[in-house]
Amino acid sequence: MIELKNVSKWYGQFQVLADCTTRVGKGDVVVICGPSGSGKSTLIKTVNGLEPFQQGEVTVDGIAVGDKKTDLSALRARIGMVFQNFELFPHLSVRDNLTLGQTRVLGRSLDEATAKGLQYLDRVGLLAQQDKYPSQLSGGQQQRVAIARALSMDPIAMLFDEPTSALDPEMINEVLDVMVGLAQEGMTMMVVTHEMGFARKVAGRILFMDHGRIVEDSSTQEFFTAPRSERAREFLARIL
Ligand code: ADP
Ligand code: MG
Repeated sequence: MIELKNVSKWYGQFQVLADCTTRVGKGDVVVICGPSGSGKSTLIKTVNGLEPFQQGEVTVDGIAVGDKKTDLSALRARIGMVFQNFELFPHLSVRDNLTLGQTRVLGRSLDEATAKGLQYLDRVGLLAQQDKYPSQLSGGQQQRVAIARALSMDPIAMLFDEPTSALDPEMINEVLDVMVGLAQEGMTMMVVTHEMGFARKVAGRILFMDHGRIVEDSSTQEFFTAPRSERAREFLARIL
């Protein structure tokens, strides 16, 4: 479904991604972890064309992301992305946040978009909040709306970039629970997170990044019991 082959990227002299290769099959859940600045956000953003790269290949469902002829907005419409800081439209109600992309990008009627949006809003437990504005919701609620909004676009895969790291501790689980449910239903997911409980529960594989390199790409079991690299061992010792 998602394939990265020898992807490298530089900012001037600074190499932010170094020869990154991995593949994510349909229904796979892959967790990406590693120290701050190691290139995790940059890596997942290459998948939906938010970060251009100078070398290598990224393909999503057979579409070459780096190819100048590829329609990146069409690709992005099919890949859901959830960021650390919710990124809801502040001036729109929850319901309008859910329908805007569907009507503008997918050309759905407002009725159809509303039905779909509310179905996902119900799934994340927030149907009663549909008339509120983002600022009237807690961080955890905003992030669940952001997930519902992404799902309303019927994505073929979901990318998450530290979706719980800006949340107060008591709100982390309500967001992780939604993500666990998605994983168990077979959604293809790449998740940058340091929530190792989540990783243990649903990830099939864990990538560990350091200085722009994927230094470890292991089964979850192997990562927690016998990490191959010294850097991953140190990292685990610090966060577990
Ligand atoms: P992570 O998500 O693992 O914390 P990032 O992918 O955000 O790492 O960033 C990787 C590195 O690239 C960091 O050292 C960061 O400072 C650098 N970087 C990110 N964006 C830019 C930019 N626009 N120009 C120069 N360096 C950048
Ligand atoms: Mg990051």
